[in-house]
Amino acid sequence: MSQPGIPASSGAPTGLQAQNGAASASGSPYTNGPVQNALMSSQVSVSQGYNSQLPGSYPHLIPAKTLNPVSEQSNYGGSQSVSPLSNYQGPGQTLYRPPVASNPMTSSIRSGPVPQMPLPTSQNPAATPMPSGSFLPGTNLPPPLNWQYNYPSQTNHCPRASSQPTMSGNTNLTGHQYVSSGDTSLQNNFMKSGVPSNTNNGSMVVHNSYDEIEGGGFLATPQLTNKNPTMSRSVGYSYPSLPPGYQNTPPPSTTGMPLSSLNYPSGPQAFTQTPLGANHLTASMSGLSLHPEGLRVINLLQERNMLPSTPLKPPVPNLHEDIQKLNCNPELFRCTLTSIPQTQALLNKAKLPLGLLLHPFKDLVQLPVVTSSTIVRCRSCRTYINPFVSFLDQRRWKCNLCYRVNDVPEEFMYNPLTRVYGEPHRRPEVQNATIEFMAPSEYMLRPPQPPVYLFVFDVSHNAVETGYLNSVCQSLLDNLDLLPGNTRTKIGFITFDSTIHFYSLQEGLSQPQMLIVSDIEDVFIPMPENLLVNLNESKELVQDLLKSLPQMFTKTLETQSALGPALQAAFKLMSPTGGRMSVFQTQLPTLGVGALKPREEPNQRSSAKDIHLTPSTDFYKKLALDCSGQQVAVDLFLLSGQYSDLASLGCISRYSAGSVYYYPSYHHQHNPVQVQKLHKELQRYLTRKIGFEAVMRIRCTKGLSIHTFHGNFFVRSTDLLSLPNVNPDAGYAVQMSVEESLTDTQLVSFQSALLYTSSKGERRIRVHTLCLPVVSTLNEVFLGADVQAISGLLANMAVDRSVTASLSDARDALVNAVIDSLSAYRSSVLSNQQPGLMVPFSLRLFPLFVLALLKQKSFQTGTNARLDERIFAMCQVKNQPLVYLMLTTHPSLYRVDNLSDEGAININDRTIPQPPILQLSVEKLSRDGAFLMDAGSVLMLWVGKNCGQNFLSQVLGVQNYALIPQTMTDLPELDTPESARTIAFISWLREQRPFYPVLYVIRDESPMKANFLQYMVEDRTESALSYYEFLLHIQQQVNK
Ligand SMILES: [Zn+2]
Repeated sequence: MSQPGIPASSGAPTGLQAQNGAASASGSPYTNGPVQNALMSSQVSVSQGYNSQLPGSYPHLIPAKTLNPVSEQSNYGGSQSVSPLSNYQGPGQTLYRPPVASNPMTSSIRSGPVPQMPLPTSQNPAATPMPSGSFLPGTNLPPPLNWQYNYPSQTNHCPRASSQPTMSGNTNLTGHQYVSSGDTSLQNNFMKSGVPSNTNNGSMVVHNSYDEIEGGGFLATPQLTNKNPTMSRSVGYSYPSLPPGYQNTPPPSTTGMPLSSLNYPSGPQAFTQTPLGANHLTASMSGLSLHPEGLRVINLLQERNMLPSTPLKPPVPNLHEDIQKLNCNPELFRCTLTSIPQTQALLNKAKLPLGLLLHPFKDLVQLPVVTSSTIVRCRSCRTYINPFVSFLDQRRWKCNLCYRVNDVPEEFMYNPLTRVYGEPHRRPEVQNATIEFMAPSEYMLRPPQPPVYLFVFDVSHNAVETGYLNSVCQSLLDNLDLLPGNTRTKIGFITFDSTIHFYSLQEGLSQPQMLIVSDIEDVFIPMPENLLVNLNESKELVQDLLKSLPQMFTKTLETQSALGPALQAAFKLMSPTGGRMSVFQTQLPTLGVGALKPREEPNQRSSAKDIHLTPSTDFYKKLALDCSGQQVAVDLFLLSGQYSDLASLGCISRYSAGSVYYYPSYHHQHNPVQVQKLHKELQRYLTRKIGFEAVMRIRCTKGLSIHTFHGNFFVRSTDLLSLPNVNPDAGYAVQMSVEESLTDTQLVSFQSALLYTSSKGERRIRVHTLCLPVVSTLNEVFLGADVQAISGLLANMAVDRSVTASLSDARDALVNAVIDSLSAYRSSVLSNQQPGLMVPFSLRLFPLFVLALLKQKSFQTGTNARLDERIFAMCQVKNQPLVYLMLTTHPSLYRVDNLSDEGAININDRTIPQPPILQLSVEKLSRDGAFLMDAGSVLMLWVGKNCGQNFLSQVLGVQNYALIPQTMTDLPELDTPESARTIAFISWLREQRPFYPVLYVIRDESPMKANFLQYMVEDRTESALSYYEFLLHIQQQVNK
């Protein structure tokens, strides 16, 4: 790390660590109390001068500082530690490395140990009857801790507040001044003084940081007070807002519904011309969007089975249909509470977490894309114009986030779709809650980067034993032309064991050249200009290399793994451009920086205490932050049968906005299921959409405040998420609080803006806007609760809690979330205190989902869950979109031996059966049937001992039960209607998600049966309550 010009990866200021999204201030990750104190003050200081932690600057923008650190060291010829490979004989032949002093290579093959293939998971005695009295519900559960809610007096609940790097001293910098990073700075900071960036109407001055480009939150500008209630009330006079929703069906045994207050007056109708967007609505609203069923109060002890037989849909916000039809798709953007409490006090009362769940870059079939010279944004808060703004007249629109009145730019008067002038409200920007803008040059800090893909392969003996290299190289060969990109696409490869190997792929070479760097203490890059090459120009060399790589190391004896130095080298190589680094690792790194030691103690696996959920070194996190600064994201593919300390390794992906993929016990012969899974998932990984050098900001209506962020990213400045890569399979979550009373408004909006560079080199902005009603009563808050979103947010919070406190703390907190909210409902909403466990219809599945979370791999106890598998499950919680997280947590169970076309759906001439979803209990199984468990990343088909002959022969293709193979991971395609139906159904399930769930066919006596049964979350296990016991426990606590 002593080389000149290279930002020292060890130079991270410690204060930055806590700044990262998920890593909220320890001790209070669950707080969603008001954030008026610390967060506000830090944001105010931001307004004085951006300190955007902007890393990555660009070589051509930086006058003095060398950002191409490798150029000076490329004189590899003079270095003893590098030996150009001269005797490579071309594809198909073994590439021999010349003797390197520190790395002697012999030709003898040492038959290394074949990794033990453990059973897919533990022998979890799920659902086995318990000796009575061994575990009584509730006896071990501590009293409610109130961990997550509402301590208005608490001052340290803002994760970033106390740890924000000080900005004093920055404000006197004049604009456009680069400050080189000293020891105290992790990245090359670019600080810009508070030159107003907003001029007029969305036409922008040249910006010099992402923060400027994307635009700060409205707090970055002088506070717009909202002291004029009349003005606020008339926000889109327009939005008569909350429709007279609930009164048609008086809620049974509920109180607190101010029916009289639901008579909303319409605002002044000053501008009565053509209807403008959504806000032409008048008071004659009839938007009852809540089904009467939604008003029921349920006694869960009497009606336990509330699981719908079809997939649970998100609640529809109680908005007028004309607004709702313009609203954002909940798959992209949803809120835990579809009715926003008016005040923090009301939110506190409800004891439900307020937050957003986002899937911002999801693949979309339809996405309006706007190319316009003017992107219309609010002058104050930089909100993008959206369907929920109001037009005061043709020339003025009022921002729905900060209420500023803005001018409509001249260009916006013309509607390119209708080719009509004077219809600003019909522009696509005002008609679509999800839209993408082609960004003009003002949105660029540098010319858009080319797509750059660097692959880093573990080629140690252990890696070679798994045989993964063959599979990965073949996938790459198959998909080389499908990598998202253009004529500028660059690609490169690094392999490593105890040394680091580079491959020169310079156009014109007759064959790839291997360069070995054995000095892992001070890694440098030989011939940097030839290692990342243009894919088109060097395609044949790339193909040659991919064909030879799997054979090149077959005789290796090298067992060491210098992952850390290899990552450093890869980072240096990519620093000038940014891009995606895909790292394949098969063991614990043992050499050089980032070397790790085994920490797992099998005996402690079942304990919720003393397990190592935190990284053992900050090397990977610091390197990830360096990567983030240079627009490099790192995806980690871990293929390891042994403990590999994913808690430490995973940081490389988490903070660089990459993802972790885990294939435990991958082996090309012994584990065909993992081979199939890796193959399918690589296909998706290599060909899916990708966004480079991205940032995301989430804005919300004034009065609401966003604090803790969840997901894989780095929080740059106060609330700008740095995403060197963004992929369509990543989800995010944020927590919010109500900072100022929302009594002056009836609607609030949330807007996420994702600025990225496409693989075609276009700068684009994808914007989603969600609009929700504000309510003033507790009952309305409860009625609008989105139980899936709540469970998803709680899971994210619980992961943080596990890391900052302990697993048992996190588990207690999950249980208390249910107890607290249902207690609040009982004491504050229900009028008569009836016995039982009374819950609002919206939360009827809340206890079930929380119980499922407690039994999920991330949080379960009492099993032999391997530490890396638990950590991976936690990574998934943080990185998965909500829909997959819920499927992983509470899988769908179907009976499939009697599939029929009744209720089937038809897609492209395929008839797809829709069997009902069953409760997750062995009670629902029967030995004469076959049942499919869809757990998101895995499908398990359990076949009962007495399963009908028809299913065995017509679907499984065997004559009797005994003939079902022990390992069966695919269904034969038979020429029978039963086979066609089953295969159609399974294919359809697979098509619903980006990654490929493998299928296991499980016989009753199979060891895999335990895996199947562990998803039976309603049943009791050795260490966990049954659903009924859990409900009794909750009731006991609620009725205290
Ligand atoms: Zn605004």
